[in-house]
Amino acid sequence: MAVYGIDIGGTKIETAIFDHNLNLLKSWRIDTPTQDYQIFIDTLRQLVEQADEYTGERGNIGIGMPGLITPAGQSLSANVPCASGQYIRDDLSRSLSRPIVLENDTRCFALSEAVSGAGKGYDRVFGAIIGTGAAGGFCRNGHLDKTQQGFAGEYGHIPLPADIQAQYQLPVLKCGCGLMACVESYIAGPGISRLYQHFNGELISPEQWVLRLKQNEAAAQQALQCYLDILGSTFASLAKFLEPDVIVLGGGVSLVDEIVENLSPAIEKYLFAGFRAPQIKRALHGDSSGVRGAALLGLKNS
Ligand SMILES: [Zn+2]
Repeated sequence: MAVYGIDIGGTKIETAIFDHNLNLLKSWRIDTPTQDYQIFIDTLRQLVEQADEYTGERGNIGIGMPGLITPAGQSLSANVPCASGQYIRDDLSRSLSRPIVLENDTRCFALSEAVSGAGKGYDRVFGAIIGTGAAGGFCRNGHLDKTQQGFAGEYGHIPLPADIQAQYQLPVLKCGCGLMACVESYIAGPGISRLYQHFNGELISPEQWVLRLKQNEAAAQQALQCYLDILGSTFASLAKFLEPDVIVLGGGVSLVDEIVENLSPAIEKYLFAGFRAPQIKRALHGDSSGVRGAALLGLKNS
């Protein structure tokens, strides 16, 4: 039986068809309809019908999407405004007359990397995406650690430690989630720009920051040190609760060598003397981890 992974992003929807061994057969991308919920559901139904036509069967379906899903099944997602507050899983399942699995996209990423990516062979794998936001998921023995309310892994909303805030005199920022001083406001892409601006007054993109780092610019180095302290302490907190064997990084920040290579000592600074940080690895499947993880959940549902 074929399985379909669908990864819904704020701008694109990626659909991938896999065989039952998770070999990729076909994948394609379309624009995400973000303004009209009925069009959004109809589009997803059509994608599944196209996949059915390709395989000649009614495949299993796993869907990944940014945001949270409440225990009642209500999706909360700022990236796809028309779908936020809607019961996507129930509505789509009814529209297709078959069950579907809907999961947060970073949890799909974590599962994909734990089963067949950079976390393969490890028992305890934390997958962390740092891009426009910061979120992740924890897997044990190749299974997503499922929880009742499904928000476990939201390390981006751990608060900034008081000592780091005081040391760098950082502003206390309000997060999109409504809480104050969540680390996401400092470590995700827009946060990098904010940190640099804090030290140098100038607002530049994360890409420009990397260029200035390579030129050894003092403010860029200062922002890097501060960044490593914040991410290091955040992952140290994560390690104190979950002690993952490996943290697999995805998203734009995972491509910055200066961060990835210096992260282990930055974590150990906030752990206990004599103990090692979890291993740090880059994701193997990159952008396609979302559809792979969603498909894995669809397979498990079969
Ligand atoms: Zn927050």
